[in-house]
Amino acid sequence: MNILVIEDSSYQRQLISAMIADSGFKAICTSGCKEALDVLAITSVDLILMDIEMPDMNGFELTKIIRSTYLEWMPIIFLSANDSEAYLTKGIDAGGDDYLTKPVKQVVLAAKIRAMERISLMKSALDQANKQLELLSSIDPLTQVLNRRGLSPILNNSWVNNLKESAELSLLMLDIDCFKLYNDNYGHQQGDDCLVEVANIFSQVLDQSRDVIGRYGGEEFIIALPYTPIESARFKAQEIINTLLSAKIAHEYSTVLPYVSVSIGVSSTSYGASSLEQLIKQADLAMYQAKENRRNQYAVFNAG
Ligand code: GH3
Ligand code: MG
Ligand code: MG
Ligand code: MG
Repeated sequence: MNILVIEDSSYQRQLISAMIADSGFKAICTSGCKEALDVLAITSVDLILMDIEMPDMNGFELTKIIRSTYLEWMPIIFLSANDSEAYLTKGIDAGGDDYLTKPVKQVVLAAKIRAMERISLMKSALDQANKQLELLSSIDPLTQVLNRRGLSPILNNSWVNNLKESAELSLLMLDIDCFKLYNDNYGHQQGDDCLVEVANIFSQVLDQSRDVIGRYGGEEFIIALPYTPIESARFKAQEIINTLLSAKIAHEYSTVLPYVSVSIGVSSTSYGASSLEQLIKQADLAMYQAKENRRNQYAVFNAG
């Protein structure tokens, strides 16, 4: 646990850092606010012990700066010779977590440090769990590709980058052919297995470092191809169609082929979409065109 001590009196600094060391922790000592901010900028700190009266800035102001600069919570305990209730209240209101009056007894300081350490550890565990939850809520549990929620910020980001860098962004809207017939005849469980296999096949064809795939709805997927001109997007669409066919997933009830196939709509920012929604709509329209053209093929949105 890294404990930052901010104290202008060298005597107090030595006293506190000795107590911290005796309690089995490590102290980083600073003599003022500016120095403390410099340390905070480059060091990961788990707890701050802060004096209030200091020449360059008082502890209340420094606490406000720390709270507004660092989103991550770190416990701050004030150490002050002033034992007035008004001071204590001001310290807590400024963003402090506890207030000890000097002179501080070693047992009290050690106990407070352990209490803050406990809260800090619980908070880290909670943060970790939240991150995990955030990740899980953006992934489709069946196919393990992004769901619509996870896809949305990435598509937005690609769209913004496209505007900033004038790099072409292409979209593929993919819809499995005759999938209702697959489900109705092979059962829902096999339908699920098929979706997983198909999503894996789609993913394999992509450039993992750049392209993004997501499940848009039941048997529909979207693939974003950033920095990809329409000609390359066409090529990618055909590659996906071929790869899926070569997997030969049996579908004897399909009206197209005895295998599972896909229809793909291709759109690109070069056709003047004015919003991401429009770009998706264009890919969707093109996908329906591919369906009309007897499926198992791609169609490009016709801007004209
Ligand atoms: P088209 O070639 O025109 O796309 O026909 P289709 O049968 O694929 O399209 P339709 O929209 O009529 O049916 C889609 C079917 O996909 C409906 C449902 O049975 C199936 N489906 C959607 N989501 C899931 C899912 O999560 N699991 C399974 N097993 N089936 C799903
Ligand atoms: Mg002081
Ligand atoms: Mg569909
Ligand atoms: Mg379909």
